[in-house]
Amino acid sequence: MERILSDEQMKQKEQEGELTREARGARLFSNGNVLVLPEQKVSYVQSDTDADIVYKIEDNECECPDFQRRQKACKHQYAVAFYGVCNAEGGL
Ligand SMILES: [Zn+2]
Repeated sequence: MERILSDEQMKQKEQEGELTREARGARLFSNGNVLVLPEQKVSYVQSDTDADIVYKIEDNECECPDFQRRQKACKHQYAVAFYGVCNAEGGL
């Protein structure tokens, strides 16, 4: 499968802010980086830049530096939101 953008170019675009957090969250979700544990009310999202890093999202708070700095929805929270939409009973 051909890629339109290399990973390097994609990272560059992210740094330039061309991709919104929502778009990056959608990509995390479609890549299968999201693990939701509804019973524990906890979600985990694997970092898309470092596979060794997994962020925990609990009570709408994410461990990542982006959320810690801004206190606003980060790409990981968007990824979990996409997961919820796609797995909701009855769908949209
Ligand atoms: Zn985050």
